[in-house]
Amino acid sequence: MIRMPKAIVMDTSTLIRSLSTLLSDKTIIPDNGESIHLFTTESVINEVKNRSSKVALQAMLSKISIISPSKPALRIVEKEAEKLGVLGKLSKTDLDVIALAVDISNKYASVYIASEDFALQNVSASLGFKIIAIGRKIRYLISYNKKCKNCGLEYSNDLEQCPACSSKEFSLVVRRRKI
Ligand SMILES: [Zn+2]
Repeated sequence: MIRMPKAIVMDTSTLIRSLSTLLSDKTIIPDNGESIHLFTTESVINEVKNRSSKVALQAMLSKISIISPSKPALRIVEKEAEKLGVLGKLSKTDLDVIALAVDISNKYASVYIASEDFALQNVSASLGFKIIAIGRKIRYLISYNKKCKNCGLEYSNDLEQCPACSSKEFSLVVRRRKI
């Protein structure tokens, strides 16, 4: 059986602060001798350019494939984020990172998403990706819904008002599922 190598898609926090730790610490990424391909998006690179020295960035760039995600992949990620009620918590760059993982997922045996961001980790895990983080890592998938105080309908956390009765009075329903 041909085993494809591992791929890691990195967000801005990882690229700036923890790439070298990530690659040298074998307890973070299981090492069974497979090569690792590193990916990130153009939007991440643009954020990194604003926050770190050009020299540090140049040193990293030769090792990383920079790809913009496809529109269909972005839609898949947006739908998943809406389902969990966290679309409003994700930046365009966050969405790009997860969508790129969706795009390359059929080419690799395992695709990891490296991020220190909880909302990004949440959506990534919900789509079945493995999470890599130096700091905190989510242990539960968390979804948020609004429950209308007027008519009782449960609706997406990303909506401003109840789609049935237009009331803006709600209580937040939080569900946790062990990963
Ligand atoms: Zn209602």
